[in-house]
Amino acid sequence: MTLETVIGIEVHAELNTKSKIFCGCSTAFGGETNTRVCPICSGQPGSLPKLNEAVVERAVKLGLVLGCDINKNSKFDRKNYFYPDLPKAYQISQLYFPICTDGKLEIDIDGKKKNIGIREIHIEEDAGKLIHSSGEGGTYIDYNRAGVPLLEIVTNPDFRNAQEVVAFIERLRETMLYLDICDCKMQEGSLRADINLSLRQPGGEFGTRTETKNLNSLKAIAHAIEYENKRQAEIIKNNGKVVQQTRRWDEDKNTSFPMRSKENAQDYRYFAEPDLQPLEISSEWLNEIKKNIPELANEKRERYIRQYGISSYMAEVICTSKNLAKLFEDLAQKSGEPVEAANLITGELMRLINETGAQADTFAIDENKLAFLISLVVSGKINRSVYKDIVAEVFANNIDPEKYIAEKGLLAVSDDSVIIAAVNQVLSNNADAVADFTAGKEKAFGFLMGQTMKNLGGKGDPASVKRILLKILKERTA
Ligand code: ADP
Ligand code: ZN
Ligand code: MG
Repeated sequence: MTLETVIGIEVHAELNTKSKIFCGCSTAFGGETNTRVCPICSGQPGSLPKLNEAVVERAVKLGLVLGCDINKNSKFDRKNYFYPDLPKAYQISQLYFPICTDGKLEIDIDGKKKNIGIREIHIEEDAGKLIHSSGEGGTYIDYNRAGVPLLEIVTNPDFRNAQEVVAFIERLRETMLYLDICDCKMQEGSLRADINLSLRQPGGEFGTRTETKNLNSLKAIAHAIEYENKRQAEIIKNNGKVVQQTRRWDEDKNTSFPMRSKENAQDYRYFAEPDLQPLEISSEWLNEIKKNIPELANEKRERYIRQYGISSYMAEVICTSKNLAKLFEDLAQKSGEPVEAANLITGELMRLINETGAQADTFAIDENKLAFLISLVVSGKINRSVYKDIVAEVFANNIDPEKYIAEKGLLAVSDDSVIIAAVNQVLSNNADAVADFTAGKEKAFGFLMGQTMKNLGGKGDPASVKRILLKILKERTA
C-alpha cells in the first residue's frame, strides 16, 4: 500500500518596516556589515527593547486577511539558546499567546479549491547572519539582520504534496505583497519556509516527522519535499523507524543532512519576556487597521472580470503582480479599451518581460504612450504588426510613439485608392493564384492578402485590404 504524505509548514516573513522590531536601526537589506546595529539589537546588558507599532499593525493585517482570531491580549516570551548569530542568547518570540490564531488560506490546484488551516501567526525577531569565509577561513558575523521583525506563520499539517505547498506559498506571497507588509524576496531570505513531513497509512495516525529548515526558493521546497518523501519511504519499507530530527537542505547537492535531533519547548527554557508589557490591541486600533486593508488580488480579479469584461485567465495573469494590476487600470481608464489593454499586458508585455528578464513587480513603462498606441490600433491608424513593434520600442527605449511613427512613416494605409492600386498590381502579377481562388481554393485568398500587404510595405490596414481585395476578386470572377 502506498503511504500518504503529510506536510505542515512554518513560514518566516521579514516585515518591511523601516526600523527593527525593538530599536530604531534600519532594516535595509545588504550594505556594509555591522553598520545598522545599536546597544539594543546587539544585546548589550542594560539595554531595553521598545516594541515597534508598525510590526503589530502588519501582523494584525495579515491575520485579518487570513481569517484569524486576533488576540487582543498577546504576550512575548524568551526563547533561550546560544548561537553566535543571536547576541542576547535569547530570541524574543511568542510561544504561549501568539497574536493571531486559527485562520485559513484557500489554494487552487487545477481548479480544485482547498483550505489550508493556519494554526497561528506570531511575532518574533530575526537573528544576525553568519558568513563562513571560504578564502581566509573562519566565520564572520553580520548583526545588521539581528532584530529585523519576523512573522512566523504556522500551518496545520494539511498539505499532501509539494504542489499544494508551492501553491500556498505563492498565494501567501501574493497576499503579503498586496498588503505591502513584506517584500517577499525569497532569494534575499525575506520569505523562507521550514517543511515538516511525515508518512502514514492513508487516513491513519500521523507518523514521525522531520523538519527541513530554511528553504528559500520554491524549487528548493519542491526538491526537499521530494527528497524527504523518498528517504522516509525507504526507511519504512526496510522496517526502520523515522527519527524525529531537524535537517538542513543543500540545494547544490540536492540532498539534506541531519542538523540536530528535534528539540522540545523545554530545551529552550521559554519564559515570559520581562522587559516588555503584554501586548494589548484596542478595538479602536483593530477597526482602524481593518479600514486600511487594501483591495486584494482575489477581489481585484473578480472586479476586473465584472467591471471590465476581461477573461478570468487574463485577470489571473494581471493580478499576479500589483504593478501589472496598476498598469492595467491606468491603461483601461486612459484608453477606454480595457480588453485591448488586458491583451497587451498578458500578450506582448509579458513576452517582453520574460524575454528581457525584467521583473513584473518592478518594471516601469509610460502608460500614456501605451494608451496612445492602443487608441491608434483600435481605430485602425496603425496595424497590429506595427503596433507590436512600437510597443517593443517603448518598452526597450522609451521612444516617443508619435515622433517615431512620423519619422518612419508607419501610419496605416487606409486610403482606398492606394489599396486598390496595390490589389490590381498583385492580381495581375499572380494570375495562377487568382485562378485558384476562382476554382474555390480558400488558401489562395490568404496568399493574395499577404502579397498585397507586402506591396503596401506592411502598413496596409488589414480590414480595408481584405474588404477591397474581396470586392475586386468578386468583380473579376463575376
Ligand atoms: P514544534 O513544537 O516542533 O514547532 P508544532 O506542533 O509547532 O511543532 O508543529 C510545527 C509544524 O509541524 C506545524 O506546521 C505542523 O502542522 C507540522 N506538523 C506537526 N505534526 C506533523 C506530522 N506528524 N507530520 C507533518 N507535519 C506535522
Ligand atoms: Zn538596533
Ligand atoms: Mg513550532
